[in-house]
Amino acid sequence: MDQEQLEQIFGHYTSWLAKPGTWVISFMNGTQFLFLLEGTEKAMLIDTGYAVGNLRRYVEQLTDKPVVVVNTHFHPDHSGGNGEWEEVMISEDYQLDVPSIQKTMGDINALPHPDYKVIPLHDGDEIDLGERVIKVFKAANAHCHSHVYFLDTGERILFMGDEMDSWQVMLYENSQNPDLEEKEDLDVILQNYRKNLLLAKSLDAQYDWLVGNHNGFVFDKSYLDDFLGLVDGVYTGETLVCERLEHPFVEMDPVAETLSRIRFRKASAFVRKALLDKIYGKNLLP
Ligand SMILES: [Zn+2]
Repeated sequence: MDQEQLEQIFGHYTSWLAKPGTWVISFMNGTQFLFLLEGTEKAMLIDTGYAVGNLRRYVEQLTDKPVVVVNTHFHPDHSGGNGEWEEVMISEDYQLDVPSIQKTMGDINALPHPDYKVIPLHDGDEIDLGERVIKVFKAANAHCHSHVYFLDTGERILFMGDEMDSWQVMLYENSQNPDLEEKEDLDVILQNYRKNLLLAKSLDAQYDWLVGNHNGFVFDKSYLDDFLGLVDGVYTGETLVCERLEHPFVEMDPVAETLSRIRFRKASAFVRKALLDKIYGKNLLP
């Protein structure tokens, strides 16, 4: 793919001001989001999209403050563009998800800073942008190994990254790391996701907006209960196992054969078919 096509498909950004000092940057035809939060001293960019090479220029048109760059997690559509900056703050566990980045669109090695400095993020860290403090919470391994949530205490927003999505949350080992794939355990993934959802619920009084990165950016808090129901329903049989994935892009990938879509009210997820059957104790699929 040449640079022009890359920019048209994966690096065509639009943006709007959603709250004071809070920019939403949308790409992939409005299905995926990055966020730019401005304090009085600094701005913080949440995620960097694909390795298209044109994001920094775009972001620097929106703010004249020095930009701190962070990742919700180390996946190709969230961290691919990291090398446009000299340093990026990423969860301390990001190394586990490193192989997934090789699948990104664009060439990470062609970016200006392919060997950018990683500043590890830990649970409990705080990033002070000037009269706007962002708190960091480490998520347990559910969507991936390197997920953190960001709580914007100034504008009262909780950023849940890929663990909140209206279409589906991907709840399977997708680090492209063969050692970890072998150890994949759906029971652990579901219980960790449950823990993460309860963490989001425990912060309830501190945010008004619940935000994800794909397929909708502000979610009603009832989604947290629906996703809890989805997890619990795998054990009680109340969660629906669908016959089809209903995802044209994933269906083009050989991984599709290994996945099932599950649903409970507004919540849906992809999990490994074989591991799901193990928990149900029988093959519920046709
Ligand atoms: Zn992801």
